[in-house]
Amino acid sequence: MEFDTIAAISTPLGEGAIAIVRLSGPNAILIANKIFRSPNRKDLQGQASHTIHYGHLVDPKLDEVVEEVMLSLMKGPKTFTREDVVEINCHGGLVSVNRVLQLVLINGARLAEPGEFTKRAFLNGRIDLSQAEAVMDLIRAKTDKAMNVALGQMDGRLSRLIKTLRQALLETLAQVEVNIDYPEYDDVEEMTLPMMIDKCTWVREEIEKLLLTSSQGKILREGLSTAIIGRPNVGKSSLLNSLIQENKAIVTDIAGTTRDIIEEYVNVRGVPLKLVDTAGIRETEDIVERIGVEKSRQVLNEADLILLVLSNAESLTEEDYRLFEAIEGMDCIVIVNKTDLPTEIDLDEVKNLAGDKRVVTTSLLQEEGVNELEEAIASLFFEGSIEASDLTYVSNARHISLLHVAKATVTDAIEAAHNDVPVDMIQIDVTRTWEILGEVIGDSVEESLIDQLFLQFCLGK
Ligand code: GDP
Ligand code: ZN
Repeated sequence: MEFDTIAAISTPLGEGAIAIVRLSGPNAILIANKIFRSPNRKDLQGQASHTIHYGHLVDPKLDEVVEEVMLSLMKGPKTFTREDVVEINCHGGLVSVNRVLQLVLINGARLAEPGEFTKRAFLNGRIDLSQAEAVMDLIRAKTDKAMNVALGQMDGRLSRLIKTLRQALLETLAQVEVNIDYPEYDDVEEMTLPMMIDKCTWVREEIEKLLLTSSQGKILREGLSTAIIGRPNVGKSSLLNSLIQENKAIVTDIAGTTRDIIEEYVNVRGVPLKLVDTAGIRETEDIVERIGVEKSRQVLNEADLILLVLSNAESLTEEDYRLFEAIEGMDCIVIVNKTDLPTEIDLDEVKNLAGDKRVVTTSLLQEEGVNELEEAIASLFFEGSIEASDLTYVSNARHISLLHVAKATVTDAIEAAHNDVPVDMIQIDVTRTWEILGEVIGDSVEESLIDQLFLQFCLGK
């Protein structure tokens, strides 16, 4: 395939002050050379790969210095796109970065479409589709935890597992072929069905394990939607403020993420919380009284995590009881606030009502107990379910739906095998499973799907 040279502004993760204009393609170095001037006038085309050069960008027509830059030069195929790549690091603001971009466009580069760098990496065989999608998730990742999931996927953990599963299926298919082509080996034929059932059952178990992580993965990407509820004046707003203050939303500096979205997220010990917006929280204040237990339960059901706040300084009221009723069976932490004031609440009764939910005491006024609360949130989230290092997450909606289909087709194969359906018929289901798993890593996807996926990428990645 023949590609032209593309360019875009590409701001690195977590570094706000520096902006990069990235070039990729056969003329990347040539174009850079036209506009770059180092103190000793070196020729970029003669430089070694993976070297960094200091100098100025000069508009060749006006012979005018535009920017002071550091320029990294990387020759294909050891680059992200497998093409020649030049990254121009500018420390100026948006205006000067734009000037640099304009300069490379005037001198022969084309403005990259959204996701086009990643698309090239994919088309040039540098990454597979699930890795490409991980890049997209990375761009969107809102917290450390979500970023780790995306990084793990980019590492190819998911792809490796999927490849192993496909390999197993392919081997049984090959075995079936052999048996069909050489029917005289009767004893081998008999071995095929049990073997097929074994392999398919194993594949199904692995898919199920992956799907189990998918709800977690989804939560990780979007943040646990968290509702703070309680009677008026118990300290809900104070709690919200303290969570926001202590956990400055950890967010990457990425074009396209707007500030109001950012502000909803806080990162509590690696757990991303999407705090219900202020308006929402106000609404829940008298929620039970206003709309009744049934309805409020419905509203609360949409939250992944409930923080129920009570006041240490007052005895339990009818409303508190109804709140407890409303959150039955949900992930919830009970917070007894205002411990700096004399205790009026019946703590034993609170623990009784809470059942197996964690109860944490705080004085938000004196900033006490917030650590314990954060620990409770983290342990609730990670409780028994995550061994972060050896777990492959699936957090991508397309992967999840494909895995569901793969699970169904492999189940068909297993059932058919149990029912003594002829092996060459079962073969169809196994082949289908193999194909669908291939779609997860992009081995058998249509062009249009690829285009659609890459259009979702941010510019410059
Ligand atoms: P909300 O109505 O549930 O949102 O409660 P607020 O957060 O607005 O707090 C109501 C009042 O209780 C405010 O005057 C807070 O300063 C006060 N308050 C919050 N937390 C504490 C606490 O731990 N101890 C004491 N003494 N007062 C608190
Ligand atoms: Zn409030």
